[in-house]
Amino acid sequence: MSELAERFETHEPGQKVVAEKIRCDACPVMCYIAEGRTGACDRYGNEGGRIVRCDPLRILDHTQPADGAGVPFDADTPWDGSLVRTKPFVTAIGAGTTYPDYKPAPFIVSQEVEGVDLVTVVTEGIFSYCGVKIKIDTDRHLGPEAATVRAAGEAVGHVTTGEYGSQMLSLGGVNHLTGGSKSEGRVTCDTLLALCNKQPVELAIDGGATIVVEAGKAPIIDGKVEHRMRVGCGSATIGMFASQWRGLVDEVVVVDDHITGVVSEHQAGKVLGWEDTGIKIVGRRSTPGRYFKVSEPGLGWGGTTISDPLSILGDWNARKGARPGLSLLMVSTTGEQFAYYELDDELKPVERPFPERLRRSVELIEENCEPALCTVLFVGGAGGSLRAGVVENPVNLTRSVHGLRTFVTVGGAPVYVWPGGGITLMVDVARVPDNAFGYVPTPALVAPIEFTLRRDDYVRLGGHASEIRSVEDVLARGGEYFNERRSAIAPRGNEWPPLAQLNRERQAS
Ligand code: SF4
Repeated sequence: MSELAERFETHEPGQKVVAEKIRCDACPVMCYIAEGRTGACDRYGNEGGRIVRCDPLRILDHTQPADGAGVPFDADTPWDGSLVRTKPFVTAIGAGTTYPDYKPAPFIVSQEVEGVDLVTVVTEGIFSYCGVKIKIDTDRHLGPEAATVRAAGEAVGHVTTGEYGSQMLSLGGVNHLTGGSKSEGRVTCDTLLALCNKQPVELAIDGGATIVVEAGKAPIIDGKVEHRMRVGCGSATIGMFASQWRGLVDEVVVVDDHITGVVSEHQAGKVLGWEDTGIKIVGRRSTPGRYFKVSEPGLGWGGTTISDPLSILGDWNARKGARPGLSLLMVSTTGEQFAYYELDDELKPVERPFPERLRRSVELIEENCEPALCTVLFVGGAGGSLRAGVVENPVNLTRSVHGLRTFVTVGGAPVYVWPGGGITLMVDVARVPDNAFGYVPTPALVAPIEFTLRRDDYVRLGGHASEIRSVEDVLARGGEYFNERRSAIAPRGNEWPPLAQLNRERQAS
């Protein structure tokens, strides 16, 4: 069902009882739920004849100050018994939705912070148009650009640009969620949900690899765990380590799918006074000591298809410095593959035992490689309907967010807001508390979203001022979905969101 159709599919607001079942009106599916059962998304149930949100409303405790230090000694203030001072932040996890958008957000919470009256509006947004961007730290070739990415045989996204040391995937989005077959939409929604909730997902790329992706974990590519992200391309590696090799070996080739580096020809080698060696690389020479296309992309040395690095070498030229006994180190950009050769009397490289004198320089490459990780960013647009739950005139909220007057978070985690129209945001799911995302079978993802701003700004924007409640009241009485409230420690590294907003305002003024 398109968003337009949804908007015209009107129904009476509120719960409706039919033959002992109650209608949930938290999403367009409008399940009729029998006593003791849950609806199609498992998020709402019928408990004692009323619709209840099944998960607790999550409130994050942030220690104060942010570094987690204990309660400071203050002779004038009596000790309240706590070992660390905490500040609660009401997230939208478990808050419920505003669907069908005729009503204010489930919780509009006021809190005084360092003498400033702030309001946080929380709601679980239903995102029919959303996706994830995945960064996979690896040199290996996962599949051609624009190749289809599949989960359980269904197209759920595509391979996008290769970035420095990482392969990027783009999954979900409107075309896969709602534009394809029913099964495609369902599998896409399942895949996005698992990825956003930091669970592992197996993806197969047309004409490429099968990978297991899990936020914050190393990728598993064709059954092999990837350990390292490359330190740089072959040319960068030469630049970084040329001085380490000087005097220890006559020539170094750093094999890489993108730019293979040759120290004797490279600018770094020239500056250090490296002699010519008469080496010949089979590839497209870009600038001195830098070669493109020495091989096709693959799972071998430095993200190429090669298992024998000598296959990228042509004949050695005696007139340009090649001589019997000349020593050669070949190494990949992660330092995982390396080999040592010496030229024989026919100027052919012959592999020799790896000399101890070069071991440290190869280890240094490995040491400088960061652990290979999968990073998953949720991307969603807070549409006009969601914004209507925050303020009466939704565009006011957009302007306030872009004007940096309103601070947006997802489950208390900071987001990046894209420039341009609307409120399109991106959040690293690793910073969002566990199991914060849900789904509804329309299909769509459900994501928590919070907007924090000054109370006077909120009123000025046309916010639902009469719905503002204190944190204490929210903790004590909860909301219209009768679920319990549960506190959890905020994930490390996430500053208490209203404080981040205040600090930013102070810096700007
Ligand atoms: S799918 Fe979930 S949110 Fe939607 S109507 Fe059913 S129970 Fe309510």
